[in-house]
Amino acid sequence: MSDAAIKYESVIGLEVHAQLLTNSKIFCGCPVAFGGEPNTRVCPICLGMPGVLPVLNRRAVEYTIRMALAVDGRVAETSAFARKNYFYPDLPKGYQISQYDRAGEPISLAGGIEIEGEDGPRFVRLRRIHLEEEAGKSIHNEPGYDPDLSYIDFNRTGVPLMEIVSEPDIRSPREASAYLARLRQILQYIGVCDGNMEEGSLRCDANVSIRKPGDPLGELVEIKNMNSMRSMERALEFEIDRQTELLDDGGTVVRQTRLWNEEKRKTFPMRSKEEAHDYRYFPDPDLVTVEIARSWVDEIGEDLPELPDARMQRFVDEYGLPQDMARKLTENRTRADYFEACVSKAVGDTARSAAGEAAGEAAGGTSSEAPGGVAGDARTVSNWMLSELLRVQHENHMDQGTLEARIPPDHLAQLLGQIKEGKISGKIGKDVLDTMAETGKSPAQVIEEQGLVQISDTGELEGVVDGILAEHPGDVAEYRAGKTKLLGFFMGQVMRATQGKANPKMVNELLQKKLAGH
Ligand code: ADP
Ligand code: MG
Ligand code: ZN
Repeated sequence: MSDAAIKYESVIGLEVHAQLLTNSKIFCGCPVAFGGEPNTRVCPICLGMPGVLPVLNRRAVEYTIRMALAVDGRVAETSAFARKNYFYPDLPKGYQISQYDRAGEPISLAGGIEIEGEDGPRFVRLRRIHLEEEAGKSIHNEPGYDPDLSYIDFNRTGVPLMEIVSEPDIRSPREASAYLARLRQILQYIGVCDGNMEEGSLRCDANVSIRKPGDPLGELVEIKNMNSMRSMERALEFEIDRQTELLDDGGTVVRQTRLWNEEKRKTFPMRSKEEAHDYRYFPDPDLVTVEIARSWVDEIGEDLPELPDARMQRFVDEYGLPQDMARKLTENRTRADYFEACVSKAVGDTARSAAGEAAGEAAGGTSSEAPGGVAGDARTVSNWMLSELLRVQHENHMDQGTLEARIPPDHLAQLLGQIKEGKISGKIGKDVLDTMAETGKSPAQVIEEQGLVQISDTGELEGVVDGILAEHPGDVAEYRAGKTKLLGFFMGQVMRATQGKANPKMVNELLQKKLAGH
């Protein structure tokens, strides 16, 4: 970081738009879905025809209340909608129905979330959470369209959008990312938004200013058009540098809106304060004030799923996992669900096989260590998920969902069971996992097809060990003369002779015994 960057402190506040996962649009019955033939999910209401009346989607309000409760927001008793007037071709009515403090109380005020800050935890306060309608999508110069024309797709028009506005409490681009990641995590946990930034169902405008520490807030610049966490960080870094240079050269920052250009890695001015829209907000006369009953809010609160922090803490308490592991496992809800499904399977299988052995079913006495109980299994599952599963996912360029579908939790549990029972070694288990990811087959099937069952038969192993020792009389003599390091060499030979299938623990014991001269 440059000296200049240290001289100033950056101040950031984010406005995050989340498309809600309702079935239908906010003021009409048209379905909500991504993509599709343009202008097929439209009706007179979302097309803004004269004379139509909007009817508020109850579920959209419910989802907003859910989010408010998840971030300790204060849910309003009455909430109202306002018209935000501006002209744009993708806005057929000439106004967007939104909520604005002075013309319509937002659904939630205050609250906040804690993030991992630059120096310790940082609490980012929220200003408000409100509901509004999505505009249409303008299409310029996209493949399949005439480059000389502009097109408009109204499928998206009227999709419910929840806007979450933070106070200017964020202090660096990295903190902005942490904040956005945290919001996305909560949105996904409570099931109100899929959080997909690439598809635009989660979007963010960033407001940034700089100041000398202790000074009042500086003039802000708003940045739009960033469609990933990474590009938001880059845009903020660029903008902070730009403002720093300006001030260092004796200039002033002017309040304006700038657009991020990902290819050029720069922001460009879009409009200044003089050109700023005067939205002429006023209460929407077509919509009645929403009265939010306390009993409804309580009901929504009772149905709220376990939130990431609570789940993380429970993973620590219930499964005895270290906090950083628990945090990674609860990073997203599907991963946390996968983990718990796998642990409950693993524990179930252990209990069943233990019962089977007690009944004298498993002859041969090859089962290894005593089961480590729930915590032991959980630790094993966690280790495998956070190292091997992630490795396989990256090596195969898969997303998490695809991998979890290829290797469902009960398959991983079965694999870990096979290793625990000594049927295959941990090393071979990793190869089996690779094949499982490629084929979607169960571990039993892969082990069977590839003949990978571990050799745990004492007689068979003894034969191999005797053969190796007979082939290397010189090394045996050296070992007996004190060069005990050679044990590893013999071990390697046995493993090579058995294609890695020998039970290492048994081979080790056999070698020690034989080399001792018994
Ligand atoms: P509104 O749009 O509601 O009138 P503002 O434009 O003041 O309010 O705030 C919009 C966003 O800009 C908020 O997220 C807020 O945190 C942020 N913000 C406000 N002032 C500053 C500032 N000086 N520097 C950076 N961000 C700011
Ligand atoms: Mg604003
Ligand atoms: Zn419609």
